[in-house]
Amino acid sequence: MPVPAKHTVPAGASSPAREPLPGVGDLVTAAEVAYPAPHHYHDGIGAQALEMALAERPAEAPLAIKVRLPFCHHACRFCASQCVSSRSSRQADPYLSRLDREMVLARRRLSGLPPVSRLHWGGAPPAFLSLDQMSDLFDRLDARLGLSGARERDFSIDLDPRETDMLTLRHLQALGFNRLNLGVQELDPRVQQAINRLQPRALTESLVDEADRLGFRELTMSLMLGLPFQTPQGLVDTLEQVIGMVPARIRLYRYRHRPEHHPAQRAIHRDWLPDASTRRQLLAVARARLDAAGYVHIGLGLYTRRNDPLAQAQASGTLGHGPLGFTRGQAGDLLGLGVNATSRIGDLWVRNAGTLAAYESALDNSQLPTARGARLTADERRHRATRETLLCGRGVDPADLPPSPHLERLHAEGLIEMTIEGVSLTAEGHWRLPDILEALALP
Ligand code: SF4
Repeated sequence: MPVPAKHTVPAGASSPAREPLPGVGDLVTAAEVAYPAPHHYHDGIGAQALEMALAERPAEAPLAIKVRLPFCHHACRFCASQCVSSRSSRQADPYLSRLDREMVLARRRLSGLPPVSRLHWGGAPPAFLSLDQMSDLFDRLDARLGLSGARERDFSIDLDPRETDMLTLRHLQALGFNRLNLGVQELDPRVQQAINRLQPRALTESLVDEADRLGFRELTMSLMLGLPFQTPQGLVDTLEQVIGMVPARIRLYRYRHRPEHHPAQRAIHRDWLPDASTRRQLLAVARARLDAAGYVHIGLGLYTRRNDPLAQAQASGTLGHGPLGFTRGQAGDLLGLGVNATSRIGDLWVRNAGTLAAYESALDNSQLPTARGARLTADERRHRATRETLLCGRGVDPADLPPSPHLERLHAEGLIEMTIEGVSLTAEGHWRLPDILEALALP
């Protein structure tokens, strides 16, 4: 994609340029169309910029919190998390102290903060922590930042069914979590064997039943496409079983084989992977089966039931998208805590140190562990807003788009609609977002 001169990499940029986008028929991930993109981040923006941005926030503006945990008991071969493999949850104790320090340093800069009503724990499965450690982390978040107890709060956590027993579920509910993201990936035993993630259907099913009984809402189950030995028929079987568990949301991810970046993937041979034609079929059968089951595609592979708040927000034109994914209304600011966590405060986007050593060392020196960042210019803010508008299913005024000779072609191909409301994506267009962004010269 040609990059106009005004979007060249800032001086001092250290991150690589955006990677080539996936081909037609491949699932697009949020990271691949993220804006700002990796090449916007540079090490000229660090802790001081974040401190100033926090200090300048209006005291009454809501702030979402995401806690990133890096420890894992497992060794899934498809893993791209750069998690630290460990058997003992005690290994997380020093990390939890550093998280507390990070909360204290961030809170010190804020002039005020309404109760936090959006919280997410993710990264490697947070159930690596013992129940006591979870309580301790939750208490510290509450003491330092103030968590909301309102019924409408949105407190979600990523869970690996292999790590989560009924006691853990009840504990999470008692703490205040009300949404679960369950990683399923595939139920085909041959695929599970190849990715070293043996997870019988009964395990997931009993968790879903218990989550339902405990009143967790909007359960999300995630599946991965493009895994070794995955076949369209095997995926259809998996989808039947998952749809039978009636989750509110189903998220499709794409496996990206990048063993040069993710050592765990070196155990996966390239010739085990589905070829491009099979990958296209995998996505096609997933779409067909989810459409037939009455799920609505929100975007980027996220499906919800029709009565889901996100589907309603999409229909009413109030859907937003930010660093925590799709939201009802504007995404707003996010404070990311933990190694490699991303924060967004106004026009400033920053990322924490990506290694435990660098993260801990910054906090031990009483500094926020920000490693690099990006501050959007007025042009970039406009581009970001345009992309978000398209992604969220709303129309963009053609005057807000760079001049493009491709509008008519995209329209003829059924990828965009041109109405009085402006230019918007069709249902098919959502799956071809990279092509459309490129054709519209949206950087
Ligand atoms: S995919 Fe998740 S559960 Fe598996 S090794 Fe990576 S972080 Fe752990």
